[in-house]
Amino acid sequence: MLNDNLPPDAQILPFYLADGSDDVALIRGRIASVGRAASTILARHGYPEIVAILQAEALALAACLSSTLKFDGVFTLQARGNGLVRTLFADITEAGALRGYAALDDNRAASQAAALAHNPGGPVRLGHVMGDGYIAFTVDDGSTNGRYQGIVELDNQHLSDAAMRWYENSEQLDTVVVCAAAEGPDGWQAVAIMLQRIAVEGGEGNTMTWCDAVARAKSDDAWHTAKTLLGSVTRNELLDPALSPENIVFRLFNTMAPHSARARLVADQCRCNVEKIEAVLQQLAADEVEDLADEDGYLTITCEFCKTERAYHKDAMPSV
Ligand SMILES: [Zn+2]
Repeated sequence: MLNDNLPPDAQILPFYLADGSDDVALIRGRIASVGRAASTILARHGYPEIVAILQAEALALAACLSSTLKFDGVFTLQARGNGLVRTLFADITEAGALRGYAALDDNRAASQAAALAHNPGGPVRLGHVMGDGYIAFTVDDGSTNGRYQGIVELDNQHLSDAAMRWYENSEQLDTVVVCAAAEGPDGWQAVAIMLQRIAVEGGEGNTMTWCDAVARAKSDDAWHTAKTLLGSVTRNELLDPALSPENIVFRLFNTMAPHSARARLVADQCRCNVEKIEAVLQQLAADEVEDLADEDGYLTITCEFCKTERAYHKDAMPSV
């Protein structure tokens, strides 16, 4: 197949669906499979299982959603809540550098409650793990210096529901999103799949021609069929390491003339900014440096994403 050159668990695959009678694309889709990056990212953190699943879902979802946007920069998914997970973060560059972390409330009771509430056969319920809060989807476009942000509340829904709410608010196009993650014997699988209806050109109301009406009806039928087919996918299918993203698309949508495009590689890659760390250190007053230094005189800065530690001696701080 077209994308056999990329690892099946490290790619974002764009695809298109038609209604079967001709090849006119009526629905665009994306499937992101990022288990390879999720495995190495999660191995550095040691989160409770329920948090690891949520983080893996967030990584897959960020990769999937980012590929529907045209930008030259970074796409970020960031949720803040008052439950066990205070911050859930995943971001990806247009080149496929993916990273993420979760900040937890240090409260064992909350951890236990969340673990008990999790249904192992389904996705993590946001409300159980994060409590009340919000989730923000942000695009930082380096080429225009533009920043676009959409925010939705976390109201006891799944991450994929939050993404659909965001699409409802920001675009008028019908969109469905499903995501799933689990750890298997060979590491993590983390998959998100999205379908979006392509707008039908043509008039409205009295200006609608017979051709417009036919096109509209075809689009309606295709959308209904595609949603039903996506609804039939099981978690086991989505998370089967033996199925590549292309296999999943062709298996699920084989009656809808699926076409896949070239996939993009996704990799676990941090963007630790040493200049930024050093700029912060330069701002510290002498007594702050003294407070932060350990008994050997070192200040250790740990990147919250990749856990890389950088040590600076209090007598050899970076100079301006
Ligand atoms: Zn880092």
